[in-house]
Amino acid sequence: MLNAWTRFLPRKNKEDVDNAIRGIVSHAYKNVSFYRKYYNQFGVDHLNIRCAEDLPHLPIINRLDMMTAGRAEYLSRDVSPDKLVIRHTTGTTGTPVTVYKSKMEELFRKITVVDAYRRNTSLTCPMTLVNVGPERKDGSNKIVEKIGPITIIKLFRDIPMGEQISILMSVKPTIMGGRPSVYWDLAKFLREKDIVPPSPRLITGGAEILLPHVRKLLEDVFRCRVADYYNSEEAGNLAWECPANPQLMHPNTATAWIEAVDQQGIPVPAGNEGHLIITNLYNYSMPFIRYDTGDRGILLETRKCQCGFNGPVMRLLEGRNENYIVLPDGREISPRIMFNVVNTGFPHDKKGWNMIDAIRIFQIIQEFNDLIEIKVVPGPAYTDSLWQAVEENLKILHPAMRLKVSIVDDLRPEPGKKFHQVLGNLNSRWKRERNDQENK
Ligand SMILES: [Zn+2]
Repeated sequence: MLNAWTRFLPRKNKEDVDNAIRGIVSHAYKNVSFYRKYYNQFGVDHLNIRCAEDLPHLPIINRLDMMTAGRAEYLSRDVSPDKLVIRHTTGTTGTPVTVYKSKMEELFRKITVVDAYRRNTSLTCPMTLVNVGPERKDGSNKIVEKIGPITIIKLFRDIPMGEQISILMSVKPTIMGGRPSVYWDLAKFLREKDIVPPSPRLITGGAEILLPHVRKLLEDVFRCRVADYYNSEEAGNLAWECPANPQLMHPNTATAWIEAVDQQGIPVPAGNEGHLIITNLYNYSMPFIRYDTGDRGILLETRKCQCGFNGPVMRLLEGRNENYIVLPDGREISPRIMFNVVNTGFPHDKKGWNMIDAIRIFQIIQEFNDLIEIKVVPGPAYTDSLWQAVEENLKILHPAMRLKVSIVDDLRPEPGKKFHQVLGNLNSRWKRERNDQENK
């Protein structure tokens, strides 16, 4: 009999990982029809999956197949969806994903994120975490939230910059977290206004690659250590930046097992670039087993690291095309905000609306400064009227902005490339400063 609680160990050794893999694979086979059908179809016996090295016998799952199957298929049959925590990913992958977790699984996810912070700084309670630029979604609306000795401050994206600064100046942050492109806007504003913000112990980046020019700006403005984190809604913290070598990351074996595979789904040798595939080790409500993240990276030989950690090592890679959108008046907005301008045009609050039924995947492209093109792979519930509100949002951004919608059959990236939800092809300040830093 497996110890089902192994999945909730906040730090797992290889034996715990193998245990958790056996647990989740056999649970998924018995209780989740999506996996049972897949495994039967591929003729794999779940009992042959004994450890992480056996995972390549299982097929790779992609988010589009999972989402279109519907929740009756991908949720465990022993959970009731109304009792689960629901999160919607805002996607850098083009396909929206709904993630379900039990309250215990959600709590564990949060613990692993804070535990990963502790790899780069010492933490004592009480502490204040400042989340820079989140969206108001999934019922999250409070600026200040207290969980025991931890105060969480959310500087929501829609709060005017001046107001965000005055909130920030009134607190003493221990850790600040957010997307690099959102930090970039905040740090630029502080610098232009000559405001010296409080200095936290640690700034963490996530969800986008922390490019060298952003890291440098943040170190200058906030005068503290900046560390990159690889987090995802599907699993929580996947890897933290090595405190001894900022080029490297350590995969978090408490939450997931990461593999790097080639186009055919076959693991690539250590040191080679591949698609990152994850197996979530703790979410039994909605298992993610050999799930394609859409990210690319390199797994290196496991070894004792200079930082003291003895475990896996990786490098996270990304194509270099993510770029700011340039408006007709020269203003620049981040890819995340651009995504939001489009995404908030969809009727997410309408009863019966299920994004994946209307839109399988979409991409926002800018070739001219007064035109946004959206390429879309439509679902069965797709209608042209979906774009009306999106177009209005664009006009609020700038009245001269126009929208062009192109229906396409497929939007998968070219082999070896990462999919970009927002493809800005104009010459922006972001792009220029990034190139300057790289050429130094
Ligand atoms: Zn290390």
